[in-house]
Amino acid sequence: MTDAVSLIRAKRDGQRLADDDIRWLFGAYARHEVADEQMSALLMAIYFRGLDRAELRTWTAAMIASGDRLDLSSVGRPTVDKHSTGGVGDKVSLILAPLVAACGAAVPQLSGRGLGHTGGTLDKLDSIPGFRSALTPDETLAALASAGCVICAAGSGLAPADRRLYALRDVTGTVESIPLIASSIMSKKIAEGTSALVLDVKVGSGAFMTSYERARELAETMVALGEEHGVRTRALLTRMDVPLGRAVGNAVEVEESVQALQGHGPGDLMEVTLALARQMLALAGIAGGTAGDPEAAIADGRALAAYRAMVRAQGGDPDAPLPQAAHTQVLPAPASGWLTGLDALKVGIAAWRLGAGRARKEDDVSASAGIICLAKPGEAVQAGQPLLELRADEPERFGPALAALEGAAAVSDQGPLPPVSPVISEVGPA
Ligand code: URA
Repeated sequence: MTDAVSLIRAKRDGQRLADDDIRWLFGAYARHEVADEQMSALLMAIYFRGLDRAELRTWTAAMIASGDRLDLSSVGRPTVDKHSTGGVGDKVSLILAPLVAACGAAVPQLSGRGLGHTGGTLDKLDSIPGFRSALTPDETLAALASAGCVICAAGSGLAPADRRLYALRDVTGTVESIPLIASSIMSKKIAEGTSALVLDVKVGSGAFMTSYERARELAETMVALGEEHGVRTRALLTRMDVPLGRAVGNAVEVEESVQALQGHGPGDLMEVTLALARQMLALAGIAGGTAGDPEAAIADGRALAAYRAMVRAQGGDPDAPLPQAAHTQVLPAPASGWLTGLDALKVGIAAWRLGAGRARKEDDVSASAGIICLAKPGEAVQAGQPLLELRADEPERFGPALAALEGAAAVSDQGPLPPVSPVISEVGPA
């Protein structure tokens, strides 16, 4: 028999937590016998002391066991999902889910909303007239069966312990801990019932992880957790120093995703999307031949058809015009030469200030606010030419957004620089 104070002291002093103690902790926390302040103290102790691999496996299993685990065995196709740690202009899920579905897998994408400078997939899709992201488990399965993919909100029954823990971490400075991030993400993905998972771990100024070493450690930790829980898991490390593609916001990212599905996506966005698609299809056991080739699925219209089917299955109208912002303003290039940098964090914060993102979970987002990058690093620019187009519902938002963009663009007279691939490396099981 243990108690919360003993566990907090043990972790504070660098000892490991026994499996039974971790299971006891989550049971007692669910029964409200462990107080939020005790759990917060333990999270802080974990932030400093970490969890070893066996502790993390049991911790994650306890989070999964706190709720339901979806059964996708009735779907009749191999299931494979993708998770991104979040970036600026990261609309990959909107393209990838229908693309991989068009190649023969089923993609059950249970997503979250954006917080801070990175956008949320559900916020983007909600800009489509009629689209419903809150589905019951039966509706989720029906949409998956009819369209081959579904992108909806993770219901409150999946890993409910994570929701309570995340709320504590958010207000106690304990979000940035690799074991806590890995268990939070993976408990939800494992509970969702997918057989395979590809993780897009972003690295750079606009990402959660700004250092390559930390991003790699997070990727390795999540891959190990997935494999230990019977989910075939791989990760790609991808760059997030500049926004992905040209559009940053909600409706503007839906528009760019549709263009990508029509075969007109920007190079960096397509490179990341196709690399993830190939990984997902390999994990699903679908590889080779035209049917399983993602580039062919875009070229022959199957991917766009799957996207339209998904939007319709979730109540949306894929042909309805998307909301347009009432006001626009342009940021000019500061000098002539080659654009060498466009800081993802600054662009993300500016889009957030324009109304595209939320500061608190309860806030609404603007469907039409956002930024269009009229030039990307590697391109030649002339001083004064429009570099970014800012869009907002209220003109008073431009001032704070422009302040965030101070110094965001770097222009050099040396160029052009050789192109840099946004895909850095692949992480598989150790
Ligand atoms: N996303 C999550 O779901 N959990 C974290 O801890 C961090 C990002």
